[in-house]
Amino acid sequence: MPTSVHQLDDGAWLSVNDAREVNVSDLWWLARQDFCSCAMADFLAEGFVEIGIDHPNVEGRIAGQCIECGESGVTDWLTLGRVVDPDEGRFFAVDPGSVHVPERRRRLASPPEKAENNSGRG
Ligand SMILES: [Zn+2]
Repeated sequence: MPTSVHQLDDGAWLSVNDAREVNVSDLWWLARQDFCSCAMADFLAEGFVEIGIDHPNVEGRIAGQCIECGESGVTDWLTLGRVVDPDEGRFFAVDPGSVHVPERRRRLASPPEKAENNSGRG
């Protein structure tokens, strides 16, 4: 069964396989982040902006604010939880209070691109 993920209520909830799993109003502790100039951002999540799957991880970008310095914006991709049993759609959310490292990526849930060797230049 393919895993489906959505955000509900203007990004207030992450839904996995039609079950509300993660509420956004949490403090996330972000390390190695570009979000603000803090070494570790105390990030108050306000809404899921994008949701995606990188099996077995469910990932998302979150809008919110660093309560340390007041910078607000959208994070890079964070792992929100894992689908541990794709057949039954069992999902375990991460603990937002542990350390998370946002990850830049260009796209989600797509197969790796084939390296087409177009070396016919010139
Ligand atoms: Zn900050």
